[in-house]
Amino acid sequence: MNKPPIVTIVGAGLAGCEAAWQLAKRNIPVRLIEMKPEKYSPAHKYPGFAELVCSNSLKAEHLSNASGLLKAELRAMDSLILKCAEASRVPAGGALAVDRERFSDAITEALKGHPLIETETGVVSEISRPRRASSPRSPRSPASSPPGR
Ligand SMILES: Cc1cc2nc3c(=O)[nH]c(=O)nc-3n(C[C@H](O)[C@H](O)[C@H](O)COP(=O)(O)OP(=O)(O)OC[C@H]3O[C@@H](n4cnc5c(N)ncnc54)[C@H](O)[C@@H]3O)c2cc1C
Repeated sequence: MNKPPIVTIVGAGLAGCEAAWQLAKRNIPVRLIEMKPEKYSPAHKYPGFAELVCSNSLKAEHLSNASGLLKAELRAMDSLILKCAEASRVPAGGALAVDRERFSDAITEALKGHPLIETETGVVSEISRPRRASSPRSPRSPASSPPGR
């Protein structure tokens, strides 16, 4: 059986971290490239993954609310973001609010320790064409190289 290709994800923000986790859960190897701490955007300051740059609240939990429903769906999908949010929660009434650093540290640790996820520090500056498997129908498939920095 063919090995699944490695999926490269640029940016270990909330989206990149959850995507990496969900792919790895499905046995798809991931290469997660994050530019921090080599370079920070004007909004980012903490070196860890999944940095919350704004409020520490992930909003309401109640199912009668769209945010609450989204959380229930994420929980059903074994979301890493939600699991780490629950483990780092701080009191906030009916909302799910987190300690930003504990939240980020938990996600960073889970992804860095995952056997199917390779993490790299670097600024990705270009995306190359995906490599195509050579096949008799596409004899002139373009060559490619890994994402440039
Ligand atoms: C001031 C401010 C207030 C906000 N308030 C809210 C709010 O109240 N509610 C809300 O839902 N959202 C808010 N947001 C938006 C919030 O940032 C996003 O919802 C969330 O962070 C998006 O997650 P993401 O994973 O898409 O991007 P990000 O969290 O931004 O993650 C992107 C990651 O990619 C890395 N990266 C970027 N470029 C490269 C590159 N070339 N190479 C390698 N790594 C790279 C970055 O370092 C970062 O870690 C706010 C944003 C700002 C700036």
